[in-house]
Amino acid sequence: MNTLELINKNEEKIKDIFKSIDETALFYSKKVLDTFHKNGLTESAFNSTTGYGFNDYGRELIEKIYADLFNAEDAIVRNQFVSGSHALCVTLFAFLRPNDLLLSITGTPYDTLHNIIGINDNPSSLKSFGVKYDQIDLINDDFDYNKISEYLKNNKVKVIEIQRSKGYSTRKSLTIDKLEKVIKIIKSIDENIIVMIDNCYCEMVERINPIEVGADAVVGSLIKNLGGGITPNGGYVVGKSDLIELVGERLTLPGEGKEVGPTLGINKSILQGLYMAPSVVASSLKTAVLTSAVLSDLGYKVSPLYDEARADIVQNIEFGNPDDLIKYVQGIQAGSAIDANAIPIACELPGYDDPIIMASGSFTQGSSIELSCDGPVREPYIAYQQGGLTYEYGKLGLITAIEYMNK
Ligand SMILES: *Cc1c(COP(=O)(O)O)cnc(C)c1O
Repeated sequence: MNTLELINKNEEKIKDIFKSIDETALFYSKKVLDTFHKNGLTESAFNSTTGYGFNDYGRELIEKIYADLFNAEDAIVRNQFVSGSHALCVTLFAFLRPNDLLLSITGTPYDTLHNIIGINDNPSSLKSFGVKYDQIDLINDDFDYNKISEYLKNNKVKVIEIQRSKGYSTRKSLTIDKLEKVIKIIKSIDENIIVMIDNCYCEMVERINPIEVGADAVVGSLIKNLGGGITPNGGYVVGKSDLIELVGERLTLPGEGKEVGPTLGINKSILQGLYMAPSVVASSLKTAVLTSAVLSDLGYKVSPLYDEARADIVQNIEFGNPDDLIKYVQGIQAGSAIDANAIPIACELPGYDDPIIMASGSFTQGSSIELSCDGPVREPYIAYQQGGLTYEYGKLGLITAIEYMNK
């Protein structure tokens, strides 16, 4: 069977899944439009400020729109956050003080958090300021509910970090129903614990967001789902107003907080990115489902399976050998929009532990809502694929990658 026949056969099989992805895209498109209307979005929101950025009407409107979208009390959405990792860093430093205890209940956090927390020695880490850290691993891809309860009864925890997406691990990403269950347990033991969610890659995939099941603060990246491939950089935090205020005071300066922050012309692209996001997330999900079906057909282990419930836009393909992994990633690069003739090789990246091979021929550097594929070159040789600004480009990228492996 040639590649095109393989794709066509699998597209037939996944028709119903695409239909439900389209329904969710419609749900979120309506939600975005409703928040635009409720907040009276006008063209003047695209105006820009410089310098201190006092009274930036568009910035304040964007933050109201984000708060409404998540049903949160407040939001901070800024280009002064470099990306999601920086938003997570600022949020943790905003909430934690010396001798406070930070607990991850989803095992080892995402690689870029290792230096922030001090899991890797770093003279600027939370640990260097005397913030303590502990973690509880997942069991069978779910929270270790008993261990968490026991731990919270015996230790005074200030912040609990929950990472929904799998990051560079082989576990499954966490669906909202599991989040709901664990947050109920946490709050029943100590309602003052701050539950902070790393929401990267999960926005607009399920219809309920972590705030709606009791999370106190939710953090994400604007070069992923909610940037819709349009926003050039930034991050967001939504949640309780007192917590958002703390984040503002840490991002800028105590005393000025959210009142300052020049937008330098970015407002339009944040709003337009959000407007596009439901459709772009849907394209990305469809690309992931097709990839899962096709690569599984070719004999590779995939996660999630094409018909499995998804919590994020990430598709794992386990190649089992370095050669197929490297060729596939090189093929995704060859099928990209930008730098298609570059040949990715594995190398060390700041903030990551193993050599990473990465295909990212994207308009925005490092954007993984655009078709991108990367993975640490170590056993069992898993590629993590995300994105596709349109399903058509995602599908073409997949075809190129498969043909590359056959070379
Ligand atoms: C991508 C990601 C981050 C970091 O976001 P950037 O915008 O790339 O800095 C953090 N946590 C998880 C789980 C991620 O997937």
